[in-house]
Amino acid sequence: MTTTVEQRTLTQAELAAARGLSIKQPYAFSIAEGFKTIENRTRSTRYRGPLFIHASQPLLRTLPIARYSRAAALRLDELGGSTNFWDARKHIPSKEVATPHPTLARSAVIATARLTGCHRASNGCCAPWGFPEMWHWELADVQPLRQAVPRAGALGLWKTDAALSAAVAEAT
Ligand SMILES: [Zn+2]
Repeated sequence: MTTTVEQRTLTQAELAAARGLSIKQPYAFSIAEGFKTIENRTRSTRYRGPLFIHASQPLLRTLPIARYSRAAALRLDELGGSTNFWDARKHIPSKEVATPHPTLARSAVIATARLTGCHRASNGCCAPWGFPEMWHWELADVQPLRQAVPRAGALGLWKTDAALSAAVAEAT
């Protein structure tokens, strides 16, 4: 019997070996929903491989997302708008109130991806998301989770653990 694995989805081995990357909202939303395909960082990285896209706790309330991408702004409206970002670690699921959309979560892993490359910004590359004088980390195979997986953020490429990998696998 053969099992067909969707190309975008991480394998079991990749889920176990993934690194986490914490990103502020609504940038994390923009990545998880497939609009933003690079991440601006002040440092380069040699790491290539599976990633957990983690939405950190801070919310950039005034980020003019429509200026980056009209499509991203429309998607945000569709999901309830910028006021609907929620803290997954404080959320108590109930039958009465629907759980907010996973890509609007904060303090949670919201997507899986692969880090496939890294280059220094030049000549306005990766516009409009890519910033000048930064390193652009190239993201591919982004797959939003069905449920946000609560987790505190960390700096840099942080190590995951078996419990987190299992929870992300469950939510994939
Ligand atoms: Zn670039």
